[in-house]
Amino acid sequence: MSSSSEASTKTSSSDNSQSSLQQDANIVLIGPPGSGKGTQSSKLSVHYKICQLSTSDLLRQATQDQSSSEGQQIRKAMEAGGLVDDHIVLSLVNKNLTKPECSNRFLFDGFPRTINQGEQLEQLLASKQKRLDAVLEYAISDDLLKRRIRDRLIHKPSGRTYHEEFHPPKESMKDDITGERLDRRSDDTTETLNARLNTYHKQTIPLIDFYRQRNIHRCVDATKKVNDAYQESLEIVDYLHKQPTYKPASIDQNPVDKNVLSKNFLSIYNSVTSVLRDHGLI
Ligand code: AMP
Repeated sequence: MSSSSEASTKTSSSDNSQSSLQQDANIVLIGPPGSGKGTQSSKLSVHYKICQLSTSDLLRQATQDQSSSEGQQIRKAMEAGGLVDDHIVLSLVNKNLTKPECSNRFLFDGFPRTINQGEQLEQLLASKQKRLDAVLEYAISDDLLKRRIRDRLIHKPSGRTYHEEFHPPKESMKDDITGERLDRRSDDTTETLNARLNTYHKQTIPLIDFYRQRNIHRCVDATKKVNDAYQESLEIVDYLHKQPTYKPASIDQNPVDKNVLSKNFLSIYNSVTSVLRDHGLI
C-alpha cells in the first residue's frame, strides 16, 4: 500500500506508452471540486512520467499530526470549504519541489488557486529557470458537479478517486489496484461543496485570466467521459509544449520596469501569435 505522501508526489514508470515530451514539461490543472482533475492528474503524470503534486493530498497529510496547530488550522479551512493560507500551501509546494523526483518536470493538481499563489509560483519557477507549459482548466457547470460529488468515492491511502456512475470501481466499493475499501471524503457534503464552489468562483476563476494573458491556458470539456477528457488534455499539452511561450526568467532580468515591460510584451506577443495561429501560419 502506498502512503499518502507517495500519492501526493509521485512519478510513475508503470505506463509503457512513449511520452511525446522530450524536454521539461510543467503543467497546472485547475478545476472546481468534482471536475475530474484528480483523475486526469494521475493519468497525465503517468503518461508524461512527471512528478504529480496534489496540494490537497499534501495538506491532508499535514493534518495527520493531531497535536499540530498548523494541522488543525488546515483541517478547519478544508472542512469549511475555504482555502488554506497561502504561506502554508507555498511552503509545502516549495519543500516538495526540491525533491529529486520533482526537480525536472512536475504537474500541479489544485495549485495555484489564487492570483497570489500564481504570482508566487511564477517567481519560484523563474528562480529555477523554469516555465509553465500548460494550464488546463476542467470546465463544468455547478449543477453537474453537485451530482458528481454526491456519488464520489476515494481510496484514502493512494488518493485514487472513483464515481459510482461516471467512473465506477471494477468491484463495488473496492479499490481496483489493492482491493481495499473505498470511502467518501469528509468534505464531500452539500454544505461544504457549496462553500467550495463559492471559493472557486471568487478566488480561483480570476487566476484563469492571469494564465490566459500568458497564453498558456486552455479549457478542457470536463463533462466528457474520463478517457475523452484525457485525450483532449494530451492534445492540448503536446500542442502548448511546442509553443515558444514566454519565459519569466528572461523578463526578470530587468527588475526596474519589469511589470510594465512584461505586460506590454505579453499582450503584443499573445495577440500576434494568436492571429498567426488562427491563420494556420504557426
Ligand atoms: P481539492 O481536492 O483539490 O478540491 O482540495 C480540497 C481542499 O484542499 C480545498 O477545498 C482547500 O481547502 C484545500 N486546498 C487544496 N489546494 C489548495 C491550494 N492550492 N490553496 C489553498 N487551499 C487548498
